[in-house]
Amino acid sequence: MATSLFLSEGAASVQRCAKCGAVTPELSAAAECTACGGLFEIVHAMPDVHGAALLALFGLRCGLKPSAEPSGVWRYLELVMPSAENPVSHPEGNTPLLERGAVQTYARSAGLLLKHEGHNPTGSFKDRGMTVAVTQARRIGARAVACASTGNTSASLAAYAAHAGIPALVFVPRGQIALGKLSQSIAYGARTLLVNGDFDACLRLARESSRELGVYLVNSINPWRVEGQKTIVFEMLQQLGYDAPDWIALPAGNLGNTSAFGKALREAFALGLITRVPRLLAVQAAGAAPFASAFATHFSTHEPVHAETLATAIKIGDPASWDRAVRAITETNGAVTSVSDDEILDAKAVIDASGVGCEPASAASVAGVLQMRMRGVIGEHERVVAVLTGHVLKDPGIIQRYHQETEPRPARANRPVEIDATLAEVERVLSER
Ligand SMILES: *Cc1c(COP(=O)(O)O)cnc(C)c1O
Repeated sequence: MATSLFLSEGAASVQRCAKCGAVTPELSAAAECTACGGLFEIVHAMPDVHGAALLALFGLRCGLKPSAEPSGVWRYLELVMPSAENPVSHPEGNTPLLERGAVQTYARSAGLLLKHEGHNPTGSFKDRGMTVAVTQARRIGARAVACASTGNTSASLAAYAAHAGIPALVFVPRGQIALGKLSQSIAYGARTLLVNGDFDACLRLARESSRELGVYLVNSINPWRVEGQKTIVFEMLQQLGYDAPDWIALPAGNLGNTSAFGKALREAFALGLITRVPRLLAVQAAGAAPFASAFATHFSTHEPVHAETLATAIKIGDPASWDRAVRAITETNGAVTSVSDDEILDAKAVIDASGVGCEPASAASVAGVLQMRMRGVIGEHERVVAVLTGHVLKDPGIIQRYHQETEPRPARANRPVEIDATLAEVERVLSER
């Protein structure tokens, strides 16, 4: 269906069903299209400043004063939520673009840069979507907000709901969420429900609760979260002086971020912020790779799987944002692949030991770049940005297992050494190195 990317100047934003095209007002609380059950996407008016003036506006707001404006999300207001007033902002975003030789050498990608979303206030990119979704919750007067989560969404929702003073309900799969994330949800004061089931069961329950109990749902199917997550791409492009890279690699679970990146690139290109569209590389864990399998058949298949991977943030067997992610990959001439848990742990050990650090799911992006370099899909001289989605402290359990417990000892294990309190012992350890 040919639908316009922007509305005419001055129009209010709308929520438009991506499936049937039905339009719902901006302040509707519906979680999905009431006509056909499809997912909404947000459509804004064409900004009334254009080209260089728009870039200057984004630049001017960057790091100005203590308000939401310098936020790495809200300085792109025109492309996120033009009618927002007093957003619920930490602030968030403004994450660094890092260059680390050890990671470039490992991934065989000399120009590789790392966009580290673990620098967000609760330690993952989820904050970028959550600041917008919770702002929307407050605008529509939601009595409570809810999400299903593999951990980071609940940590982020808990923090932003506390900031907004709205009760939060989070559904997480019992025993399957990393310690750092669970600790955050509890500490920030969310009602934390440990569901006997997997993530996919949690999402079904959250969707039912939103329909039946009038709780505002802020999962990644929430179109406002997509608007916020687009700013990872806008900010990366701004940091690169709007000279787009050849590839953007990201881990893919529920496919909300893949969808957001696709929409961001579509809009950035339509507005002339970039003259060339980077190719998206979505990387799944081999034990949770329905999207990678479908890509191998040119998206002619769509088979949910039972998800198994130690990268819990992407342990999702039935991704919710499937159709919009297919569009993102197709439109950017992108690719989807999968990497094993061992490849994830190996890449993570390299990223961690470079002093950067990230959680397991994040390392999938670098493992995916390495694989695509070996297969020749990514060229030696192509410029790649890999997104690190979460902070190293999110999952301390994995670090302990890898470095201290796994037998046989992994190649990159850094075992702590127990010693008696003598100088001789310290000398012994030093001479071992
Ligand atoms: C949520 C999350 C992902 C996966 O993003 P999707 O939008 O679900 O595909 C990857 N890494 C981390 C750290 C996350 O929190």
